[in-house]
Amino acid sequence: MDYEAIIGLEVHVQLKTQTKLFCGCTVEYGADPNSRVCPVCLGLPGALPSPNKQAIILTIQTGLMLGSEISPRGKFDRKNYFYPDMPKNYQISQYDQPLCKGGYIQLYPLAFPKDAQKDPQAQIRKKIRIVRVHLEEDVGKSFHFEENSGIDFNRAGTPLMEIVSEADIRSPEEAFAYLSALRQILRYGNVSDCDMEKGQLRCDVNVSVKPVGEEKWGTKCEIKNLNSISAVRKALKYEIQRQIQVLSMGNKIEQETLRWDDQRGQTILMRTKEYAHDYRYFPDPDLLTVVTEGELIEEAKKRIPELPEQKKQRLCETYGLSEYQSSVLAADPQLADYFEKAAKSASNKVAVANFLINDYLALVSDFETAIPLPAEYFSELSNLVDQGQVHMKQAKEMVKVMVSEKKRPSVIVQEQGLGQITSVDMLEALCKEAIDANPKSVSDYRAGKVAALNALKGYVMKKTKGKANPQIIHDLLEKKLREIT
Ligand SMILES: [Zn+2]
Repeated sequence: MDYEAIIGLEVHVQLKTQTKLFCGCTVEYGADPNSRVCPVCLGLPGALPSPNKQAIILTIQTGLMLGSEISPRGKFDRKNYFYPDMPKNYQISQYDQPLCKGGYIQLYPLAFPKDAQKDPQAQIRKKIRIVRVHLEEDVGKSFHFEENSGIDFNRAGTPLMEIVSEADIRSPEEAFAYLSALRQILRYGNVSDCDMEKGQLRCDVNVSVKPVGEEKWGTKCEIKNLNSISAVRKALKYEIQRQIQVLSMGNKIEQETLRWDDQRGQTILMRTKEYAHDYRYFPDPDLLTVVTEGELIEEAKKRIPELPEQKKQRLCETYGLSEYQSSVLAADPQLADYFEKAAKSASNKVAVANFLINDYLALVSDFETAIPLPAEYFSELSNLVDQGQVHMKQAKEMVKVMVSEKKRPSVIVQEQGLGQITSVDMLEALCKEAIDANPKSVSDYRAGKVAALNALKGYVMKKTKGKANPQIIHDLLEKKLREIT
């Protein structure tokens, strides 16, 4: 029997704010344990929370970027449970009045994992619907030592945005693409750095399987706290197989909360699922409802940049790039800006894109951390090719020298004596020599074998050590051969 998976994601994103959600403590990764705390985030009796305006604006901005409906009123609720990393015994979150509802994320081919991009399924521009986006506070972090455990409350109270998807995702690869596309939008909007190593983007996954064609969904399991996009893919792959195996043997799936063990490559049972009402949500009496209309929405709107999909389309239309080229460039807004700077004074803008994508990125691997060359080096390089001063093969070699020696293309041409020979007189003499030395190729050509011209071209290229302008030789040879007949 064939099975299909039904997948929904809950993504937690740490917002890029200076201070915590309900107090003035600074948000700082890697600070000494318990050095960024106060009575509010430690939950001491009598301490009162005061909401961070910037965090609310960033959440509304995210909703606007995802096409969500912004609630006119946002409410904060207490989610009650006991856990050592949460001293108040409740977490301030949003229950029935989140800041944003609805919206979607559109998948695109390059968002899929590399090995799945060729899969025709990856081409589907599927829209994954968003249920809600809400704001809550993060909890502290437990550390387990040999004989005891410690808790660092620096992270407690950090603004965390939760983005919940509909269960529209059908494969681990789609989940990967959804997360890549979401991360790209959040980075574009400067809402979060989404640095997964620092735990700035964490993901809970809900997954069930059912026989293809069956309408009723299967029992779902939740995998908690996945901290990388590739771990989400691996965990889903494993869990889907596990559930299919259980069902194939005629057994039932129990509703469970699991965690992913990356080293063992398997999901592990944490607990059987608790239900939402166990949390006894109720409105936080210390916090007023947030009126979003007016100032907050206006501020959020001002922060919205050109989004990835818009940028891709504009790059295609303005510079005549292919969809693939514009997607690679738009993957990193800094790279796209760099391309636009370089393309400004280049006569062949597509060539500039190709040098960046095919040659430059292959050498620097990570554009963000590479020392960037001045953008005009790339316009100069493509202009040299366009004017016939160097040919494409030389230009590609020159990119390597540009990167390793930080030299501008015109200097490299001079130093390496790369300039093409465009002197017609000189080339004409060599073409004559080629014809005289290759009677066989000449007669082949005259017998209709057009490819025989390549042998003659090769002769001239060899004599000039590859510096002859190929188009000029081509024209000269054709002219001379016509004269003979
Ligand atoms: Zn604090």
